[in-house]
Amino acid sequence: MTFRAVLLTQEDRKVSAEVAQLEDSQLPDGDVTVDVSYSTVNYKDGMILNGVGRLVRDYPHVPGIDFSGIVRASNDSRYVEGDRVVLTGWKVGEAHWGGYAQRARVSGDWLVKLPEGLSELEAMSVGTAGFTSMLAMQALEDHGIGSAPVLVTGAAGGVGSVAVHLLSQAGYDVAASTGRPETSDYLTKLGASQIVPREELAEPPSGPLASERWGGCIDAVGGTTLAHLLTEMQYGASVAACGLAGGNELSTTVIPFLLRGVNLLGIDSVMCPFEIRDKAWSRLDELIDRERLSEMTTVVGLAEVPQLGSDILAGQVRGRTVVDVGA
Ligand code: NDP
Repeated sequence: MTFRAVLLTQEDRKVSAEVAQLEDSQLPDGDVTVDVSYSTVNYKDGMILNGVGRLVRDYPHVPGIDFSGIVRASNDSRYVEGDRVVLTGWKVGEAHWGGYAQRARVSGDWLVKLPEGLSELEAMSVGTAGFTSMLAMQALEDHGIGSAPVLVTGAAGGVGSVAVHLLSQAGYDVAASTGRPETSDYLTKLGASQIVPREELAEPPSGPLASERWGGCIDAVGGTTLAHLLTEMQYGASVAACGLAGGNELSTTVIPFLLRGVNLLGIDSVMCPFEIRDKAWSRLDELIDRERLSEMTTVVGLAEVPQLGSDILAGQVRGRTVVDVGA
């Protein structure tokens, strides 16, 4: 049997992507074969599609760090033909062929059965970015959220958009920080009560502490933004650090931690254990307003993936981009 996929090849250290026809016999080893319905374009996919960060070591390679689909064949007793499944993380799309294909073969340990209420399209509108937002919100709640608004940085991006919506649905007052003022209406509709211009937070902090502005933060940006917002956290509040879209270096002092008891919580969606995954997907199913989810989602075909990989690295993609692998 043949299927279509985005295939990455490398020549003279230059990576290029094209849509190719592949055979089932080329699929990697794994217990479960899935007919993929949808995948998505995440920041990490942008890096992989552009050969940034040497995340992929073996070529040819099929990228796509997440997918939803239907089990086609299984040697794992937990899954039978016809089960609806979702996969995020486990280095799929990096060290193992991923979701930009009509077929995937993976370990059953990496899959989660889709909650009844979530369609395959909705599951990928959430995708890795939304799953990460849920892990971040859960981490903030586990440590206690303060009375001041909860800040989301990189708010118009994938992680940010879902984070704004989830926090608002859970009843928190949400401040959305964005460098794109034209997305203000979009972010307000997702649930933000105030928009914070990116420049307010992007400069290095002027001192070790500033006025207490935030009761918690989901940060997708890192760099000087993270250093800055650490000085503005309420006493005992937490920052869930998810991303590095604004830089991976962090220059701060220990003062916010010593004098304000601020918690810096690292969020890793890749190797997160099964029980946490299962709980996160159930809560996503409960909390997400399907209409808002659809408004933050753009659906594209496999052929558009390479260009979108460059756009997302340039910070030009709004919300979530779902890839309909059949289109
Ligand atoms: P997106 O590109 O969709 O969102 C990133 C957003 O960050 C942009 O939309 C933009 O928001 C803002 N941004 C971009 N460039 C800059 C810059 N130079 N300075 C300040 N802000 C900037 O990416 P994703 O949402 O998919 O991912 C966001 C981050 O989270 C990435 O670093 C990604 O690697 C990481 N991530 C981490 C995971 C984990 O497990 N820890 C899982 C998934 C993602 P705006 O236009 O609103 O300013």
